[in-house]
Amino acid sequence: MKIRAQIAMVLNLDKCIGCHTCSVTCKNVWTNREGLEYAWFNNVETKPGIGYPKDWENQTRWKGGWKRKSNGKIEPRIGGKWRVLANIFANPDLPEIDDYYEPFTFDYEHLQKAPESQAFPTARPRSLITGNRMEKIEWGPNWEEILGGEFAKRSQDVNFEGVQKEIYGQFENTFMMYLPRLCEHCLNPACAAACPSGAIYKREEDGIVLIDQDKCRGWRMCVSGCPYKKIYFNWSSGKSEKCILCYPRIEVGQPTVCSETCVGRIRYLGVVLYDADKIEAAASVYDEKALYEAQLSVFLNPKDPSVIAQARADGVPENWIEAAKVSPIWKMAMEWKIAFPLHPEYRTLPMVWYVPPLSPITAAAEAGKMGTDGAMPDVRSLRIPLRYLANLLTAGDEAPVALGLERMLAMRAYMRAKTIDGVIDEGIA
Ligand code: SF4
Ligand code: SF4
Repeated sequence: MKIRAQIAMVLNLDKCIGCHTCSVTCKNVWTNREGLEYAWFNNVETKPGIGYPKDWENQTRWKGGWKRKSNGKIEPRIGGKWRVLANIFANPDLPEIDDYYEPFTFDYEHLQKAPESQAFPTARPRSLITGNRMEKIEWGPNWEEILGGEFAKRSQDVNFEGVQKEIYGQFENTFMMYLPRLCEHCLNPACAAACPSGAIYKREEDGIVLIDQDKCRGWRMCVSGCPYKKIYFNWSSGKSEKCILCYPRIEVGQPTVCSETCVGRIRYLGVVLYDADKIEAAASVYDEKALYEAQLSVFLNPKDPSVIAQARADGVPENWIEAAKVSPIWKMAMEWKIAFPLHPEYRTLPMVWYVPPLSPITAAAEAGKMGTDGAMPDVRSLRIPLRYLANLLTAGDEAPVALGLERMLAMRAYMRAKTIDGVIDEGIA
């Protein structure tokens, strides 16, 4: 057993309001410069949706590299002999600039000056680059949310029912949630394994994954290798860059910028202790039902005296051991099991974990009289399908996610029933 400490993060998706403050403050501090205009070390996606960069969860590498979906057909970027050549001279499995993000605004003038009509006027997206209206449904990290406007416009069509089905399937069953994303500072970082220059390394003391800018030669294999697509090529410097987990702040005891500025207070930072000797075995599990448990298996109880003694012997500093003992990450991810890794099937052992969101409270209330009577709805009746959350967080295993949601519902019911001297506390309720 070789014990190491890792700084990790849990994001409680139940509290994210999609305000993007985390993304904007991160950008202002770390990527507000030439070459990284398109890069968001932290971004917030609307899910289920296409994400940022486009389609990052559907990288069909084995069929010919990064694919573009156009006109309903999936087409390889480079085919035939040219693809072979491209493989030699460059790295074709890369998202291109168009896959990241095109800034747009809305046609507010139309919104304010539209003539009187039966339906509310819709502010259509307008490209900031060309100034043109986007004539067809484009895309964006939050496009599915934007579709609300598109839906309103198209609902003026005669075939209202048809439009509903075309855009949403069954409108009354639609759901959405926010997914803030940053580099996972993985225990088994694919970016580091992919780098031919040995420029990417994981810090021994806290597990933060960094790129040595002096060693980087701009191969961009890390961009291809990272399954979360959280490395960005700086076209100005010719080097790759990524989230540094605000290490200059962490080193002086401050939280990351995204954590400190988070409006919903959804972000928890903490230290976990893990057994470095177990990483290889955990990253080699291919049984999808066993993936989530395999990821849990590398972590060690920071309150176990034998673990503490071994951590000391392995050189983990005393203040990090103390931090691990009170870590909210240990409690939420390992003890209470309400937080889960994002796409554990990628097998990089990500260190940013997520508490899944409960459905909108109204849906939960309708489903099972959520309240002070102790009756709780079946999590399968919640609006966000359990299957969807399981595919995101446990490689499709629904049981652990259901248990986590039940615990959160129970905590909510408990807090609502909490009384002070026999009187329900209105503030809590
Ligand atoms: Fe590397 Fe990607 Fe993991 Fe970050 S999320 S450590 S960039 S593999
Ligand atoms: Fe969500 Fe917090 Fe970011 Fe707002 S600042 S989008 S609440 S993670």
